[in-house]
Amino acid sequence: MIDIIAIDGPSGVGKSTVARRVALALGLGYVDTGAIYRAIAWNAIKNKIDLSDETNLYEKSNNIQITVTPLDQFAKQQIFIHDTEITLAIRTPAVTDATSIISKLPRIRALAVSLQKKLANQSKNGAVLEGRDIGTVVFPDAKLKIYLDASPEVRANRRMLELKQQGYSTNLKTILDQISVRDERDSNREHSPLKPADDAVTILTDGLSIEDVVNRILMLYQSRTEKQHE
Ligand code: C5P
Repeated sequence: MIDIIAIDGPSGVGKSTVARRVALALGLGYVDTGAIYRAIAWNAIKNKIDLSDETNLYEKSNNIQITVTPLDQFAKQQIFIHDTEITLAIRTPAVTDATSIISKLPRIRALAVSLQKKLANQSKNGAVLEGRDIGTVVFPDAKLKIYLDASPEVRANRRMLELKQQGYSTNLKTILDQISVRDERDSNREHSPLKPADDAVTILTDGLSIEDVVNRILMLYQSRTEKQHE
């Protein structure tokens, strides 16, 4: 079995940056599982599919070909639906909102999870996956499970910076409201809600730098590896 590191946590907690750096440091693949849900939501919006009609949405999503490439050069990872590149298109606020709606549908989750597992298994040395349910559902036997958390204010500030860099003008209050809506949807949904796995290590990132968090995860990984070899 390949080594899996599961990094879960709420929106805007810095999972992507941390997961990418951990993957790079350890020479593992990197899978952004949210991107798969985003791709399905983007396709639904583009084809004007009713987001609440699970059967229709599943049928129209089941045969779309989502490609993530390459899996081992994280900085330039691109995502496609068939031949259309959607790397940036899936990051708009409209897609973000639609994603948190479709991701509560169990058949859509099953579809996304199967692709996430396939992508992880393509990485020979193992993979770092970031999402909401990696340690609880996608890879319950992961070698290391991390749950990253931060206060809503810290997450909103980080998210605002990110959106500004992408050219969106917005304000802190709007982002805080959006974060609380997404937290509420992700944490209270019936299927695979956002919550730490029982055996996850929770890291509260308020006041910590990215390096601090990455180093902490690398140390935990190292100690798990040493234990495995004892
Ligand atoms: O991580 P990201 O913000 O890109 O995720 C977008 C949305 O996809 C989340 O708000 C959540 O609703 C959903 N998601 C999920 N399970 C995952 C990853 C993302 O439900 N493993």
